[in-house]
Amino acid sequence: MFSVKGFSTSELKGRAIVSHTGLQPSGGTWKCSKHADGTLCLHVRDAFELFQSVIGEDGQELDTAMFISIPSLASFTRQDSVSHSPILPPIPLALKNDPVLCPRPQPFRNPPVSILTLERGGSCPCPSGQTFYTPGSPTITRSCRIFTLFTVYDGVVEIQACPNCPSTRRRFIGPDLAKQGLFNFNNSIIVSHELLDEYTMAFVTSETPFNAFVATVAHRYTVSGTEFMGDDLFRSIWFAYALRLAMDNDMRCTRCGDCPDTVIWDGITLAFGRKHLSATLVPPTKTSEFSLQRLNMKNHPRQQLLLDSALRKLIRQVVNAPKLEDSLVKDIDDGPPSNAAQIELDRQSRQVVDHLARIDAVYAGLRKECEALAHFFLEAYGAIAYSKRKSAPSATTRFFLQIAAEESVLQMINGAALADLNDFLAAPHPKHLTKLLSIPGLYRVLLAQSRIDSLVPLLQWLANRATNVLQELSVEHLPLSGGAGAAVPESDWKVSSPDTTASCLSPFEIRP
Ligand SMILES: [Zn+2]
Ligand SMILES: [Zn+2]
Ligand SMILES: [Zn+2]
Repeated sequence: MFSVKGFSTSELKGRAIVSHTGLQPSGGTWKCSKHADGTLCLHVRDAFELFQSVIGEDGQELDTAMFISIPSLASFTRQDSVSHSPILPPIPLALKNDPVLCPRPQPFRNPPVSILTLERGGSCPCPSGQTFYTPGSPTITRSCRIFTLFTVYDGVVEIQACPNCPSTRRRFIGPDLAKQGLFNFNNSIIVSHELLDEYTMAFVTSETPFNAFVATVAHRYTVSGTEFMGDDLFRSIWFAYALRLAMDNDMRCTRCGDCPDTVIWDGITLAFGRKHLSATLVPPTKTSEFSLQRLNMKNHPRQQLLLDSALRKLIRQVVNAPKLEDSLVKDIDDGPPSNAAQIELDRQSRQVVDHLARIDAVYAGLRKECEALAHFFLEAYGAIAYSKRKSAPSATTRFFLQIAAEESVLQMINGAALADLNDFLAAPHPKHLTKLLSIPGLYRVLLAQSRIDSLVPLLQWLANRATNVLQELSVEHLPLSGGAGAAVPESDWKVSSPDTTASCLSPFEIRP
């Protein structure tokens, strides 16, 4: 182990501790306390030279290849548990249609009153498959530790030598304990469902990393003078536990049925302990010499449906029309109004005059773009509709807000929706209206019309504008070389260890 002086400061806190494991300076592994594993830093270089000067050169250079290997992000041993029967998910995560496989056990909180005996269902997780308890055959007892939410208890568990596992491995058949709210990990470590569920809830509500949770529980244990387990063990136990939670076969939507084609994920949880941060982790946006070059791409600012920004602003104002107050009419009938009322009356009438002027301006502006759109606008928001205090349906208002949106027309009509729109325009009949479901704002407006003939030119105008913008943006035709868009092979999150590179989403986060 070497203490290496810092480069920027000579103070003690600037020093790095570099440790080496191995026989030769050029072999083994080097680690620096200031840099992530796998980094060849100047501290390591300094320590390497010092080491060589002390034990003599071994004729080798410091091999950078030693530092290129990507370190594991977390240690994780996958181990099957003795408990094997299905366990109900935490109450808030249970679904109404979850089958009730067993009664929900009481939380295990008190010291065990008797030994944890073997019953039917007790088993050994043999590599070749479970071996079950044989009543009548000899059993022995062994001490175990029972981890609950608040503290750890010493207990005694009844076990039976497994006839199928090699005797050298000394594996035992142990009790399942699910009915008592306990999870038997390996006959010597037993954890209450309550504690494991506590982690599940902490994770789904605030993305708590394992080490944060373990630190919290460890603190709670300290208060009662006991000691909790380490991160790695807890992680292995929780994954073994999650494997037993009865939450399979529920990728189901009430409308679309089992395993819908499209699922909206409402969050991704990714967290690394600080010590797992590696210098070799790079964001997916980092480019390399192999990155695809799209030289023709440049910012294309004018992608809105309506290019006239003043017109867009006017439309947004007009669809939120000022209320036409009854007072405006009534007060005049009641004789000369008071001073304050007169001012208010003037203000309101000015608003109305302005509004009517805006209607005219929008109509004139829209006529230049599309006659059918201008006509549709006048019907919904024109002076006649306004004077009748007829407010436009909310679908229409939302539609005009989309027309006047500041964003790209492709937000409203994307490539696939444009194909749908063109398909519909080939035979614009109301019975084919569902083809336009991919443009929901437009679909709802058309659905509310008794006749859609007069709006067909409007649809054509939308299609033309979207086609133009799409063509202007499609300047590159390089194929993607795998990666994005390639199907990700189905992965079993329960089986994959957390250090695989793919981000794993747990079914807790995707329960509908
Ligand atoms: Zn360093
Ligand atoms: Zn066995
Ligand atoms: Zn659905």
